[in-house]
Amino acid sequence: MTADLHAAALDEDERREFVAVATSFLEANAERLPAAESFTWGRGPEVRLMGKDDEDPRALIAQARAWRAKVFDAGFGWLGGPVEYGGGGRHHDLDGIYRSLESEFDVPDQSAWGVAWEMVAPAILVHGNEDVKQRYLSRIYRGELLCSQLLSEPGNGSDLAGLRTKAVRDGDEWVVNGQKVWSSYAHLAELGQLMARTDPDAPKHKGLTMFLLPMDTPGVEPRPLRQMNGNAEFNEVFLTDVRVPDGNRVGDAGRGWAAVLTTLMSERAAVGSGKTSAAADPALILVELARHMDRLNDAVVRQTLAEVLTHRKLIEWVGARGEALVASGQARGAEGSILKLLSSRQIRRIANLAGSLLGPAFGADTGEWGTFAWSDYLCSTPGLRIAGGTDEIQHNILGERILGLPKEPHLQ
Ligand SMILES: Cc1cc2nc3c(=O)[nH]c(=O)nc-3n(C[C@H](O)[C@H](O)[C@H](O)COP(=O)(O)OP(=O)(O)OC[C@H]3O[C@@H](n4cnc5c(N)ncnc54)[C@H](O)[C@@H]3O)c2cc1C
Repeated sequence: MTADLHAAALDEDERREFVAVATSFLEANAERLPAAESFTWGRGPEVRLMGKDDEDPRALIAQARAWRAKVFDAGFGWLGGPVEYGGGGRHHDLDGIYRSLESEFDVPDQSAWGVAWEMVAPAILVHGNEDVKQRYLSRIYRGELLCSQLLSEPGNGSDLAGLRTKAVRDGDEWVVNGQKVWSSYAHLAELGQLMARTDPDAPKHKGLTMFLLPMDTPGVEPRPLRQMNGNAEFNEVFLTDVRVPDGNRVGDAGRGWAAVLTTLMSERAAVGSGKTSAAADPALILVELARHMDRLNDAVVRQTLAEVLTHRKLIEWVGARGEALVASGQARGAEGSILKLLSSRQIRRIANLAGSLLGPAFGADTGEWGTFAWSDYLCSTPGLRIAGGTDEIQHNILGERILGLPKEPHLQ
């Protein structure tokens, strides 16, 4: 469906030819997944919301990296990107079309690269200087550099502009000291997107600067934190006398807030879009769960399923509208917040119905296929209401930017 909406802005012949070429690349290099509609209870992928690290995460990342290099080298990795930075120089819609085609195939999970492709690279493209773009963009889109965001700090998550990690200029370098937290994949990443305070005397939004920090720099110490879904993707990151070259600055010193806004708007849209393989779509697996539990004729279950399927379409269409805006050269606006709110409510709706259908099988592993996997889904739900800005923060953004309500008193 997303592909059809994009087609309106793309020459039809080019689209058709692209779909044929991309499909034959995928068919030659990967197995096609069973169609979502032909999902059969007991077969195929179980429901999943966040990555799972019960297998060796480094091995999973290596598989994803190898797949991505193949995709990039075949010309499908960054179709809409400028040619001078390694992109394909083609219509932006082709990236969405390729992702949609790829989701029909059994390829390595690339969700760990969401930060790199959806958040860090867009900020570099808009705010980085020529040298930074040349050195980093194609390596990021080729899957060579796994990225982690070093933004949040203890005490400064929603109030990100209040962050306290300091960077002090010393010749051609900056010396960084401070602590970050909730940094996804920092223990595995090659590159950190670091926000630091470079001018303690400026108003808080004006004294910040963004840097690209190689994670193997002396003084960078990630310490993994285990989450309630059992994974340990998060980290605390301690930064002690870390030296970052001035050449790794993204944008002017003191202009980091503009760069972080580009990142956050892309992040909200990416978290909200819930890009997933069609065969592993939780909404469709939920319908099959209700059928398996013989509850499809229950009026309340049917009503909730109808809400889930309606919102599934809404999320798809709002996502397509955001991508079309970007493709037409406009900045992502507050629709990233709408998408994120729609998505976090949808995840809750799905988890609640799955919980009431399964009862105790939700919390105890009976070994029955397709049941205990929902416990991971439920335990991952709260995190997605927080990541990329909490629901309350999204409401504030919509209130102020769309409804024109006054800003919060302490921010005026
Ligand atoms: C899955 C996940 C992945 C993440 N990945 C990363 C990452 O890779 N890198 C990174 O830097 N950070 C990451 N984060 C951190 C995330 O950005 C922060 O947790 C988030 O911004 C909230 O900040 P906080 O935890 O400090 O909560 P707080 O800001 O302390 O908020 C606590 C509560 O107060 C509410 N609140 C705060 N301010 C307001 C307000 N002005 N109006 C109304 N309510 C308010 C919040 O909604 C929340 O309910 C991740 C978080 C999660 C859950």
